[in-house]
Amino acid sequence: MVSVAWFGSPAEGFSLILFPAYAFLVWYACLRWRRQLMGVAALVLGVMLIALLAQFDLTIRRALHLHDDGPLFRFMLYSEGVIVGMVGAILVLVPSHPAAVQPCRRCGYELHGLEVANPTCPECGTAYAASKVELAPCIGCGQDVPAAADGRNLCKGCLPPAAAPAA
Ligand SMILES: [Zn+2]
Ligand SMILES: [Zn+2]
Repeated sequence: MVSVAWFGSPAEGFSLILFPAYAFLVWYACLRWRRQLMGVAALVLGVMLIALLAQFDLTIRRALHLHDDGPLFRFMLYSEGVIVGMVGAILVLVPSHPAAVQPCRRCGYELHGLEVANPTCPECGTAYAASKVELAPCIGCGQDVPAAADGRNLCKGCLPPAAAPAA
């Protein structure tokens, strides 16, 4: 019975084409202006328009003297709204800068070219941004430092002065 109802009216037949087309239009705008206010605006407007249509579905039908197809069309509208919103939200968050050679493991910021091999990310402040480092307390002062293979964890301040001229 469901399949009969699906193609039951011109509105639903039409929506089979219109729904995907509308979704792709919104997604395109989200991707085109990703990480920008414009993309977020397109996403919000795109979902709001569907919600409004669902809200006023009955009113529009009455005004145009269309037959009410019952809750199915509104259910389809709600589903469309959820799908458009979820996929659009993912697309609008796609990083807008090209893939980094050596990305920060937290925010994707390009670390390649920085002087330190495993630096603190200048963008988000993550320590050892290039690759996660096992930390262990310094045996001298107790502050966390990258764990040494031989277990003798020493921070820069506690390292024995290497051949420093005695004052
Ligand atoms: Zn970062
Ligand atoms: Zn120390």
